[in-house]
Amino acid sequence: MPVVYSALSVNDTTAPKPISIADALARVHARIAAACQVANRDPAEVTLLAVSKTKPESAIHAALAAGQTAFGESYLQDAMPKLMAAYPRQPEWHFIGPIQSNKTRDIANHFAWVHSVDRIKVARRLSDQRDDSLPPLNCCLQVNISGEAAKAGVSPAELGELVAAVREMPRLTLRGLMCIPARATDPAAQALPFRALAELAVALRSEGHALDTLSMGMSADLEAAIAEGATIVRVGTDIFGARS
Ligand SMILES: *Cc1c(COP(=O)(O)O)cnc(C)c1O
Repeated sequence: MPVVYSALSVNDTTAPKPISIADALARVHARIAAACQVANRDPAEVTLLAVSKTKPESAIHAALAAGQTAFGESYLQDAMPKLMAAYPRQPEWHFIGPIQSNKTRDIANHFAWVHSVDRIKVARRLSDQRDDSLPPLNCCLQVNISGEAAKAGVSPAELGELVAAVREMPRLTLRGLMCIPARATDPAAQALPFRALAELAVALRSEGHALDTLSMGMSADLEAAIAEGATIVRVGTDIFGARS
């Protein structure tokens, strides 16, 4: 069974002991359950997306064997061999990374979900290229919620236009919103961008858009995200170990 946290210095007595992916998953589920209890939410409302980017196929096998179903990948080239591999149960694949428009065909046809749609051109290509034999592609719109110049995502000001366009695209199902906020360690600071994303979803729902998904929260901030209404948390490091 693959082991996480394995690259330990022999002199580092404070480093965590290696734990299995199954144990790491159990810990993350316990964190989700505890965060739901604090927030008075049903844990069944929160889906754990295991972010396996850069990790080998063996890590996916280990997580699948431990009951994990949904997997997130960010880099298409790294992801494709893993998507093509044979598994005892078919993983549900989510694309969560930046989308180059020349890569949309594989994203459109090999994933069940895309969390990182942030412009009309990319959305249109995904819809046009999604095979008719497949159900519509579940999409979240990535919002640049912290307003960082270098970060992907549609600005809150331009979100309405993107929502209206995606709603008209026949091979996409608009499910909700996604964000990757600026890093913060203080829980109160972590909560602010998540609350802002949740408020954008409330506003869109009041305009008649049926959105059921808030994809927000990662290893370091999933508790804050659940407190603000996350329905999908995307966790990599705390399941599979640090990425090199
Ligand atoms: C890598 C990644 C994650 C997982 O981050 P961790 O901090 O390792 O849990 C979540 N979401 C996106 C979009 C990512 O690229």
